[in-house]
Amino acid sequence: MFDSQFPILIGWELGIEHWRIRPISIFLFAVFCFPNTYSPRHESVANFPTMSIRVLCLFLLVLVSTTSVFGQQPILLRVDATEAPRKIYHAELTIPAIPGPMNLFYPKWIPGEHAPTGPITDLAGLKISSGGRPLEWRRDSVEMFAFHIVVPTGASSVDIKLDFLSTPDAAGFSSGASATSELAILSWNQLLLYPEGRASDDLEVSAELRLPAEWKFGTALPVSKVNDRDVQFQTVSLTTLVDSPVLAGRHFRRIELSPGARPAHYIDVAADSEEALNASPEQIEKYRRLIKETQALFNATHYREYHFLLALSNQIAHFGLEHHESSDNQTREDYFTDAASNLVGASLLPHEYVHSWNGKYRRPDGLATRDFEQPMKGDLLWVYEGLTEYFAWVLAARSGLITPELNRQFLALDASVLDLRAGRIWRSLADTAVAAQLLYDARPDWESMRRGVDFYDEGSLIWLEADTMIRKLTQGKKSLDDFCRSFYGGPSGPAQVKPYSFDSLMEGLNTVVAYDWKSFFEARIYRTGTDRAPLGGIEAGGYRVALVDKPSEAQRASEQIQQNLSVAFSIGLTLNADGLIIDVLPEMPAAKSGIGPGMKLVSVNNRKYSGEVLREEIRKTKSGGQLDLRVANGKSVGTYKVDYHDGEKYPILERNGQPALLDDILKPLR
Ligand SMILES: [Zn+2]
Repeated sequence: MFDSQFPILIGWELGIEHWRIRPISIFLFAVFCFPNTYSPRHESVANFPTMSIRVLCLFLLVLVSTTSVFGQQPILLRVDATEAPRKIYHAELTIPAIPGPMNLFYPKWIPGEHAPTGPITDLAGLKISSGGRPLEWRRDSVEMFAFHIVVPTGASSVDIKLDFLSTPDAAGFSSGASATSELAILSWNQLLLYPEGRASDDLEVSAELRLPAEWKFGTALPVSKVNDRDVQFQTVSLTTLVDSPVLAGRHFRRIELSPGARPAHYIDVAADSEEALNASPEQIEKYRRLIKETQALFNATHYREYHFLLALSNQIAHFGLEHHESSDNQTREDYFTDAASNLVGASLLPHEYVHSWNGKYRRPDGLATRDFEQPMKGDLLWVYEGLTEYFAWVLAARSGLITPELNRQFLALDASVLDLRAGRIWRSLADTAVAAQLLYDARPDWESMRRGVDFYDEGSLIWLEADTMIRKLTQGKKSLDDFCRSFYGGPSGPAQVKPYSFDSLMEGLNTVVAYDWKSFFEARIYRTGTDRAPLGGIEAGGYRVALVDKPSEAQRASEQIQQNLSVAFSIGLTLNADGLIIDVLPEMPAAKSGIGPGMKLVSVNNRKYSGEVLREEIRKTKSGGQLDLRVANGKSVGTYKVDYHDGEKYPILERNGQPALLDDILKPLR
């Protein structure tokens, strides 16, 4: 009840400086606890003044603390998004303040991005004043996200004006391109400063937003009122505000996913064209099944209502970002109307939805930070992202968003890429998680040597193995679904965070079935020096990775969407459509001939390069064809003779004679 923050908080709330309020509170508390020290010592009347002083002090303490609670004013935030199409936002804030030095922060560590990705470079036009008088601000020389000001005597608030310059560059996550002439995704963390001191849960914000004329919007943020293009939101904590982006656009559609039921679920779609909104009734039905299957998996919800914010545009960054009560999903304009686009993006919405449970409600303690300044620790991202990726894969099939056959094809691709990771010789999976804040921005060249954010797909493989292990240990009576219900379920209700540690995760698994889970995971997470991916789940699931001479439908679709080409499993190259070599696998024939990333393939056996020509010439090696690659490396061009004779190779899964647990896992629960 009486922690070290208490006197400081009272001072902040009452507008009394810390050095004055701390002694006052300590004095009152001391008198309450030891009244005799401060009361007259006349025997006959000792009890009267002692009790009176105790009661008086208690009254004053209660008064001080209740005054502080009710006296707190929310931060006022007014955002003008009317110029979003030309990629600039304007914001004004009024922040309660007390006279004296004050530190303001621009949000730095963005939840879900696991990195200090707040776009501080795009903060502009910063002006701070109080009572109409400009205040000088100084950026901290070390912490670039901190600004120092001195609040003048008598002031009770500061006023801030800032602009946010929204990039047209699609690189990055929420700090990447997020506005077009037709739509905008507004991330509140980009548009505000907040005062140092309190946890973001304890800072309240009242936000208002002005949108471009005739734009509609969707958000999980509760709305107070809408007046034409002005939206006033209910006062919420800074945590909830940053957790509740707004998607707005000229072409907008709201799709109800659980009509008449509570909590409500929606897809709010904004697109660059009216036709891009045309989700078919069959597609909508699959998303309705996604809600039912996910609820059957977790058996509880931790939100008031849930909004999939879905932005469809080829001009914006493509990614997904999870929130408690919504998700920010950004993908291609033809997502609903092109089969390949839809197939490659099939697990995007399931992934972000699963995060409402795994990542938001239950969160690794290193990622449950008190504000946006405290660094995040990614040690358990193989759970946060790996388990989410696994159940996105499972739920995409259970809800019919993808067929089990195509799902297996994507699994084969992911497993095979990981199986060729040369970097696992030196780097553990755990290190990819710890270093996530570096690896999200890592280049694709030499990725096999470096390893990327492998905790997603390799984490998924490990959780598949854990699922098959539970099924085997319990003779099919239990599965990882039971762990989801016990660890992520609990009573339904509004958003809350329940942090967990590695040990409590192991305890949770042991309540499903007793096993040495600690050794199971540590062997897979921390090991180095092996050249193989953890494929035990695929094999226990009744399949094995095999190589065939034709790319799967999943690989074809991925290459079409990503505009690249993979002959990684034959000669060890990935290229883009122009022949630029994205990466080489170090132990494979192309690398051994001397080819490296960044070079450009010009011709194959004297035939001008195209993806089909390369594949055709690789195919001929099986019947004695050579493979002479003409490759440009900066100003020089040379011929590289690739010593390879085995034709085309592409990964698939084939049955291995064991019971097909993998097929059971993908069957709908409802
Ligand atoms: Zn994720």
